[in-house]
Amino acid sequence: MSAHPFDLGGKVALVTGANTGLGQAIALALAAAGADIFAVGRSDPEETGRSVLAMGRKFANAHDELGPETPFAQLVADCVAKLGALDIVVNNAGTIRRATALEFSPGDWDAVMDVNLKAAFFLSQAAARWMVERGRGGKIINIASMLSFQGGIRTASYTASKHGLLGVTRLLANEWAALGINVNAIAPGYIETNNTIALRDDEARSRSILERIPASRWGQPSDIGGAAVFLASGAADYVHGAVLPVDGGWLAR
Ligand code: NAP
Repeated sequence: MSAHPFDLGGKVALVTGANTGLGQAIALALAAAGADIFAVGRSDPEETGRSVLAMGRKFANAHDELGPETPFAQLVADCVAKLGALDIVVNNAGTIRRATALEFSPGDWDAVMDVNLKAAFFLSQAAARWMVERGRGGKIINIASMLSFQGGIRTASYTASKHGLLGVTRLLANEWAALGINVNAIAPGYIETNNTIALRDDEARSRSILERIPASRWGQPSDIGGAAVFLASGAADYVHGAVLPVDGGWLAR
């Protein structure tokens, strides 16, 4: 039993898209709580790696585009080979394409669904197969969105993918809770990352979003870290299929 319910000492966390934005902040928060980090993504997570190592944790990474061709079982095996285990998976990598529904292209549909939904499911499957074989359970955290609940505008495939990700979170929780694997989601509100540059650059849109946020500010990536630590920890052992909004009150409005 860990000394502290949120202690992640001795755990290994795989985080996708950990080079920047929310993935980076989540990786650093998990490392600060004691976890070693395996970063998966298509861009070099050098800055994240340096910070994790500076905290005295182990760090390794795999360079992979996430999509239909990703060798998910190989990624899991690589994580286990380099860091000795896999206890926590954070399906964070995600992308967005903006166009009206009248103009939306099949390419923009597939590009988003492949990363946000398909890769999240099949990485979870590969990780869970390993966790079941090991017999000690694990934690899977999916990064959902306000557009897991709301329709959005000009984001057809993103909205479909994030609604889908919340549904899949619940399905996996139903199937895997009895196996000791907790599957939950975090639904970030409007956070200042690359993902929201287009929104923040549009003055009218940016102002109308801000006016609706009870906390009166956009979120910072670091605002998400505590929720990830909680869901990755023993404190959340009886939490299954939940979605935790971290949104400055947006959904309560
Ligand atoms: P971000 O800064 O754009 O980061 C997205 C991450 O996903 C990057 O690491 C990116 O890699 C990676 N990625 C995208 N497509 C990929 C692919 N095909 N293969 C491998 N990696 C890929 O945006 P973010 O805001 O931190 O987004 C992280 C997650 O939070 C996403 O799932 C997003 O939908 C979700 N989210 C964000 C907000 C928000 O307000 N920012 C709100 C709700 C949910 P590159 O750096 O190489 O592009």
